[in-house]
Amino acid sequence: MFDELRDLYQEVIFDHNRNPRNFRVMEDATRRVEGHNPLCGDRLTLYVKLDGDTISDASFQGEGCAISTASVSLMTEIIKGKSVAETEELFDLFHQITTGQSVELNLEALGKLAVLAGVRDYPARVKCATLAWHTLDAALHNRQTAVSTED
Ligand code: ZN
Repeated sequence: MFDELRDLYQEVIFDHNRNPRNFRVMEDATRRVEGHNPLCGDRLTLYVKLDGDTISDASFQGEGCAISTASVSLMTEIIKGKSVAETEELFDLFHQITTGQSVELNLEALGKLAVLAGVRDYPARVKCATLAWHTLDAALHNRQTAVSTED
């Protein structure tokens, strides 16, 4: 399956890297957390607006490699309108596919996030893909300290 979809996946990653979605400062964010992946040099600031239990808005700023930028761009698109619990389920699923713990890909549940499943073939890039999600996890649990993939 990867061979057939690899071109499409790369296109989506290139597209999100060239034109990142939700790339802006959010003045009225309820959560703001910085994430850093020292191994690659990826840095991002994630902004989340929680409306009760729902993520009503998400945005980011920062600089990173194509994988990290595409990952956070896709993430901000996908989590908007989702509840915290739904987002945590997605994070679990995403973590499993990027670290190869899950053999079967649940494409329906993953949606566009499936484009990043290919990083599991490149262990050095896994942290680039998961940085956004670890930072989001800190934001949702109101841990305001900076997130590092090497802590
Ligand atoms: Zn990176």
